[in-house]
Amino acid sequence: MALNDNDTIVTSGMQKYIDANNAYLAGRADYINTQIRKWKFDTIAVHGLYSVRDAIDDYQGAIIEPAFMSTSQAYRDSDEMAAALAYKIPTWCYSRIANPSTYYYEWTLALLEGYGFAGETSCCSTSSGMSAIMSAVQPFLQVTGKTPGAINFVATAQCYGGTFQQFTVRFMQERNIECRWVLNAENLDEWAQKIDGNTRFLYGELPSNPQLGFFDIEKVADLAHSHNIPLICDSTIATPALLRPICHGADIVVQSVTKSLSSSGFGICGAIIARKNLTSNLAVEGLKEDFGLYVKFLQNRDLGPNLHPMQAVLALNDMRTVRSKMDLMSRNTMQVARFLGEHPEVESVQYLGLPDHPLHDLASRYMWLVDAEQDELYGKPVNRYGHLLSFCVAGGAERARLFFDNLQRIWRATDLGRIKSVATIPAISTHQQQGEEGRAMAGIPTHMVRLCVGAEHPDDIIADLDQALGKAKKGVSV
Ligand SMILES: *Cc1c(COP(=O)(O)O)cnc(C)c1O
Repeated sequence: MALNDNDTIVTSGMQKYIDANNAYLAGRADYINTQIRKWKFDTIAVHGLYSVRDAIDDYQGAIIEPAFMSTSQAYRDSDEMAAALAYKIPTWCYSRIANPSTYYYEWTLALLEGYGFAGETSCCSTSSGMSAIMSAVQPFLQVTGKTPGAINFVATAQCYGGTFQQFTVRFMQERNIECRWVLNAENLDEWAQKIDGNTRFLYGELPSNPQLGFFDIEKVADLAHSHNIPLICDSTIATPALLRPICHGADIVVQSVTKSLSSSGFGICGAIIARKNLTSNLAVEGLKEDFGLYVKFLQNRDLGPNLHPMQAVLALNDMRTVRSKMDLMSRNTMQVARFLGEHPEVESVQYLGLPDHPLHDLASRYMWLVDAEQDELYGKPVNRYGHLLSFCVAGGAERARLFFDNLQRIWRATDLGRIKSVATIPAISTHQQQGEEGRAMAGIPTHMVRLCVGAEHPDDIIADLDQALGKAKKGVSV
């Protein structure tokens, strides 16, 4: 690990440990390059970096990645400790910084987001999706002394409500860092017009929650790189099973692993995945070379938004089947979207899979079920659009609430990405804090319902929607 923020003198005692660990690192690189890189997506999702050799050498042969509920690692002597804490050798030192369970979680995500990408990726686990976003953008907002004027960044206005708050309140209001919102992300000129010499990065959520906004990743990445800045994407709604922005030029991906990546809903977790040698106009050591490790071993060591090892193992367990779950839930959602699109009590449906959606063609160029062409079921590439949709109930906000209150099987909750169908009204929940003006900018009317379709039989979800729409029309309150 080349990461170090001080000058450590390496003694001969330390060197002994460094030499031994270099052999481990060489073995790991060899395993990745000669084996893992040849595997299909599902095999990586199931095993990640955790090998039979790891299990037997270090973990009593346990076939499942162990949950290491320990705060820290003990060292053989002061030389090993000094080498570890100077990041000269791989270390678990202290669980705020590193832990074996979060290590396997990080590698699985780095490998999945980097699937099909020719370069290398690395990952830093975080306690939540919000802390992933914070951890990913913060390094680019540092005051370098060389920057005249205020710092700014450019971001899609169609984004998760928490992201909107983080950028608006925490950065703009509290720190005077300007967030320049892009209202029509599919319009490249709008992005271009907002960039100047003080812009530190471009940020885009796609598909966006809940409006299903989308943009041309390759073009926006090219634009960013022409200004020597990175493109950061929130790819939570798609998961790497359907979209891998790094393969299309993005520099960094943030994931709320809480959502579809761990559909069981056992807890909150997040991750940053970055390509090595990313683009940035900042001259900060280590930042460009290995952003994932820079955040993990320097920034987040000092800020502390770390993931709990138990949560890492729970999420790993969910991620093993992410491809087949995203396929199934996307297909169910397509059926539900078609049903809603034809329902007289529904004003409009936003789902990228519907051919008449204005962004359908653009999304169809990017959203593919990974490895469908190798799947016995399909044998050819197939588009999949995820399991999030939104729709507007005919008759306005009150009718929408009546419909919502009449749902019986679908859960009313501010959640998404679950194996269970969940609905919310964004204007009174996830996007409530940003106020009317912020919602108008992001395109979130008061009668919009966000629905995330789970793995139930779609007929049962359709029946629930149908009865609730019927009761709302008749004015039946519960
Ligand atoms: C939920 C969500 C987040 C925030 O993630 P948490 O894990 O809840 O902190 C960020 N982005 C998107 C798109 C989300 O849906």
